[in-house]
Order: sequence, then C-alpha cells, then structure tokens
Amino acid sequence: MKKIVPNILVVDDSMAILIVMEAILKELGLSETITTTLSARDALDKVKTNPTYYDAIFTDLNMPEMDGMELIRHLGELNYQGGIIIVSEMDHKVISLAANLAKQHNAHLIGNIAKPVQLSQVSRLLIKVAQLNSHTLLKEPVISKDELIDALKNDEITPFYQPKINTDNNKIESVEVLARILSSKDGNIILPNRFINTAEQHNLINQITFSLFEKATSEFKNMKAQLGHDFKMAFNLSPTQLDDLSCPNKLLLILELNRLTPSNIIIEITEQHALSSLMQLETLNRLRMHGFGLSLDDFGVGFTNMEQLRNLPFTEIKIDRSLISNIETDLFSQVVVSSLINITSGEHLDLVAEGVERPEELAYLKHYRRNLAIQGFLFSCPKPKEEFILWAKKWTETPHP
Ligand code: C2E
Ligand code: CA
Ligand code: CA
Repeated sequence: MKKIVPNILVVDDSMAILIVMEAILKELGLSETITTTLSARDALDKVKTNPTYYDAIFTDLNMPEMDGMELIRHLGELNYQGGIIIVSEMDHKVISLAANLAKQHNAHLIGNIAKPVQLSQVSRLLIKVAQLNSHTLLKEPVISKDELIDALKNDEITPFYQPKINTDNNKIESVEVLARILSSKDGNIILPNRFINTAEQHNLINQITFSLFEKATSEFKNMKAQLGHDFKMAFNLSPTQLDDLSCPNKLLLILELNRLTPSNIIIEITEQHALSSLMQLETLNRLRMHGFGLSLDDFGVGFTNMEQLRNLPFTEIKIDRSLISNIETDLFSQVVVSSLINITSGEHLDLVAEGVERPEELAYLKHYRRNLAIQGFLFSCPKPKEEFILWAKKWTETPHP
C-alpha cells in the first residue's frame, strides 16, 4: 500500500482562492489529486461518501450557510482521520481556541495559512500532512505474521536507544527504547512501522514488549555504570496492552529480576487512539500507583484535549514532531505549544519536544522559559547499545555552551 501523493480537498466560497490554491498545489506536483468546492456542505458530502480518501482538507473559516468551524465539527463526528488546515487570517486567541475545539471534536487541525496564500506556506503544511500520515498510513510493506513469528523465534527483536536531553543542563534525562528487528540472516534492520501493526493485529505485541523490556532492563545497570550517571528508561506500550490487567505485574516481575524499581521506568502511550476503556484507565492508574512514570506520546495528533490532561495520571507529555518541525516560523505550532506550556505549568508534568532536527528549532524552543527535554536527530538517532554508549560518553564529556 504505497502512497506517495496525498489527496487534497480545498473548500472556499471564493472562486479566486480556489484558483490560486489549485495553481499552487499543481506547482507542488499534486495536479492529479486535488478536488475543489465552493461549499462546506458539498465538502462534507464528499468526505461522507469516501471517508478515507482525502489526506488533507484546506478550509476557509468564513463561508455562508456552513462555515469552517461547523465543517471541522462535522469532520470530527465522522471520525475523519486526515489533516485539516484553515485558510484564513487568525490571531493567536482564535488559533488557540480553534485548535482546542478541533481536539474536543476529535479532528486533526494541523495548521493555518494566511491569505494571500503563498506557495511556501502550502508546501510547509504538506510536509505536516505527510508527518500526520506517517502515524496512520503504512508507507513500506508490512511484514507478515509468519515473518514476525520467525523473528520472535530467532530472538531478533532488538532494543535501539535514543536520548531525551534536558535543555537546561544538557544532561541525558532518559533514554527511549525503540524496537527493531535485526535480521540474523543478513543483518538488515526492520523499523517498527513495518511490524508493530502486524504484532497488534495478531496478538504478538506482548511478546515484542516483554522481549525488549527484558533485554533493555538487563542492560540498564551496565549502561548507567558506563555513562557514570543515573537516567530513566522509557518503553512504548500500545493502548491495547493496557486492556490486559496483569500487564503491570508482568513488568514488575522483570524489574525485580533485574533489581530495578518502577521509578527507573517511563511507560509511553501514544495519544493517537483515545484512551477509552475503563480497563485501560485502571491499568494506567495501577502503573502510576506502582511508581512508573507515564508519558503521553505524540501529543498533538491525537484525541486528548488539554482539559483531559489534568485528569489522567501522566507524568510527562511528548509534543509530536508535527508541532515541532519548523516551529520557529510556524505561528500555528507556536500558539499550540505555548498554550500547552501554559496549561501544564504548575502541574508537575515533564514536557518533551520530539523530532527536533534543526538548530533553529532548538533555539526557538529554548525561548520558552519552561524546562523542556529534547529528543531528536539533532542530538542522536536511535542507536544499538554499544553505539549509543559511545555517543553518550562523548556527549557527556564534551562541554556544551
Ligand atoms: P514514537 O514512540 O513516537 O518514537 C519516535 C519515533 O520518531 C522513532 O521512530 C524515532 O526514530 C523517530 N525520531 C526520533 N527523532 C526524530 C527526528 O528528529 N526526526 C524524525 N524524522 N524522526 C525522529 P521509530 O523508531 O521508527 O518508531 C516509530 C514508532 O513505532 C514509535 O513512535 C512507536 O509508536 C512505535 N514503536 C517503536 N517501538 C515500539 C515498541 O516497543 N512497542 C510499541 N507498541 N510501539 C513501538
Ligand atoms: Ca514513544
Ligand atoms: Ca512520539
């Protein structure tokens, strides 16, 4: 299921804007996949007919009959999974409120463009559409159930490590463990987007998690000794794994074997799917009661709104890459991130910015006086243990301005 060019729907009651948008999208190589309409109702009908067809919708706010806010609300009700971009001049308060409302309605508002529309703005937002899709679409062929079972039998599930760095003192605060399949035949590395879904579908995700958890926690003490300082280790759990009420006990058992305590561990849960079942909430609470750190991953692309954050027992929020990339020039991301910082200040929540790739992004993030941890290729990509330790020693020894 390879998909390269996104399908775009543009809705605006001004024919002139539609013509400009179409010209820009064509210039960006999307001529085959653009649909335009003058009416929000028509746009909604198009999505109703084929809910998964459009990867992104560019919408005006001010339109007769049905306006942009109403369209966004209906798209949320339809559980529309693509990105929504508002094409309209908006001030900070309006952006912040629109983003929050969209979240309440389970819609993915990913940015706004001021009129007159410029090619560079549209191009920047198409990158965000691609990033959003990387959460929901599978770009590379997934591996089959049998291939995954073989990988598990051959013990090929391998932890890779990526640091989260405190911007105040440049310390490695924690290290995220990311799953890889390391082929014993040819040494090829298979990334999680090719096997996590298969694992979830065929009930193999627990085996992956516990294999990783055993391997990484058994290496934890040795890694700390080599780095010469304490840090936490973070693991990803799929929300479905929280439905298993015995999950915390299984993790505790492995920790005990390795003489570790839950306070050394952070559990990351993606925000993509709403945490819904009572069982999931019970497990979440139990993990927290045992002392595990709990991190809400990919915040910004999912369905937790700012107010719900207060009622869930999270200790950390990871701001999704789509809100971080190009933040220094992206007013929408700036407003959403700063309102998140305001809401979480005084809440004892650690904040992590994910996917920092460029020095400009880091420099902008340092403007916020709030203590932020940073994770991203700018510092280090995920690495196998030995390589990570070499990197981390060098990082710790090098003075940082
Ligand atoms: P995630 O938990 O959001 O992990 C961060 C992903 O972003 C990682 O991709 C990491 O390599 C990538 N990343 C980090 N910094 C940057 C950056 O600066 N730029 C860019 N472009 N990417 C960056 P990875 O390792 O391919 O993992 C993808 C997803 O697979 C993870 O997203 C997580 O949702 C899932 N996953 C990985 N390991 C596990 C696991 O053990 N269990 C479960 N359930 N899911 C896992
Ligand atoms: Ca994660
Ligand atoms: Ca993430």
